[in-house]
Amino acid sequence: MKFFIAPLLFLAAACFVRADETPTQLAEQELPSLLAIYKDIHAHPELSTQEERTSALVAKELKAAGCEVTDHFGKYEMPGLTSYGVVGVMKNGDGPTVLVRTDMDALPVEEATGLPYASKVTTKNNDGKEVHVMHACGHDAHMALFIGAARVLAKLKDQWHGTLVFVGQPAEETGSGAKALLADGLYTKFPKPNFAIGFHDNAELETGKIAYVPGYVQANVDSVDITVRGVGGHGAYPHKTKDPVVLAAQIVLGLQTIVSRENNPLDPIVITVGSIHGGTKHNIISDEVKMQVTVRTYKAEVRKHVLDAIARVAKGMAIAGGFPEDKMPIVKVEEDEFTPATYNNPELTARLAKDWKSVLGDGNVVQKDPTMGGEDFSEFSLPDHSIPACDFWIGAVDPAKIAASEKGGEPLPSLHSPKFAPVPEPTIKIGVIGVATAVLDLMKK
Ligand SMILES: [Zn+2]
Ligand SMILES: [Zn+2]
Repeated sequence: MKFFIAPLLFLAAACFVRADETPTQLAEQELPSLLAIYKDIHAHPELSTQEERTSALVAKELKAAGCEVTDHFGKYEMPGLTSYGVVGVMKNGDGPTVLVRTDMDALPVEEATGLPYASKVTTKNNDGKEVHVMHACGHDAHMALFIGAARVLAKLKDQWHGTLVFVGQPAEETGSGAKALLADGLYTKFPKPNFAIGFHDNAELETGKIAYVPGYVQANVDSVDITVRGVGGHGAYPHKTKDPVVLAAQIVLGLQTIVSRENNPLDPIVITVGSIHGGTKHNIISDEVKMQVTVRTYKAEVRKHVLDAIARVAKGMAIAGGFPEDKMPIVKVEEDEFTPATYNNPELTARLAKDWKSVLGDGNVVQKDPTMGGEDFSEFSLPDHSIPACDFWIGAVDPAKIAASEKGGEPLPSLHSPKFAPVPEPTIKIGVIGVATAVLDLMKK
């Protein structure tokens, strides 16, 4: 009997260690600490370009996990702003380089979740206006799971090789943070990745699940300002004026025919006039109307066609209305605010989906439709998606609430809603498992 016990004990011990070395086991061990970090960050949100405390926390945790950390990294185009980017490099011999990115900023929203750790923070925005601040996009959960993934991967160094670059990105909500990091030399001062991994919590997906979208997942985002000019006068004598309000109304409708008549319906476009302002009083025809337009596309050629068409339609409508040559509408594409489309490399995405299914089960990993939202994670795979990237979604909603809303109950709060907050558990744990599993496959020995 004795003869058999020793090897069996040895085998049992080996199995125990082995089980401890899976991302799932390690994520569970880290969870209490990650939940505390999550609640701390949630209660202390900071606006885009103001992430001083948050980035210091991320830097400290990456250092503690064994990364070489550079903080205050990045350079904005706009003078006077400090970039609070954090880059943590974890080296583990020769092998591929993989970038893992979290965003860090919060939004000017007054929290209405009623959570015990809800934000009560107010601060001055960059225009000097006092605003409430809230992590209404779940970037707090992103940071907690990102820190968890760094800790877990540090403990699993015998299972991967290469270099991990953990990027804490500021100012995602303004679309300027990723650009600031790249402009400061993210890919020259630090190893350039072979793969880039991003993630976002999803306000319509059950917690416990991961979703993926092969190909385009988020759109090109362009901001266009249109100034419609006219010749003002008395509201009772329109024949003596050129009315910019009527012209603006025609332009608003004319823009929709770009979508419906000029474009292949299989190439999605959204043109939304989100703001229109002109005039002062009932009986005065004004000199000017200002419009702000958001334009969403996927393909570069479609984007170019739409932006050119907006200028053409605006000018063409003015000519049709007999507006003078020197009063043609001014159409300005705000190039600084452009966010490129996010493209999930199909082979990489299929590979990761298979990995996640093997760990979480087929039913917990689902393919979703793309959206026309925007996300500057796309910058990390530029130019032209040359670095294979995958930005996946982590379910963040109580399944009972999804079921109730589908039956006509209370609608689910969307991202950016004052009532949105991810269910911390198991969302954060699933995120840690998702990132660590992806990295282990891409960097396996
Ligand atoms: Zn957001
Ligand atoms: Zn977000």
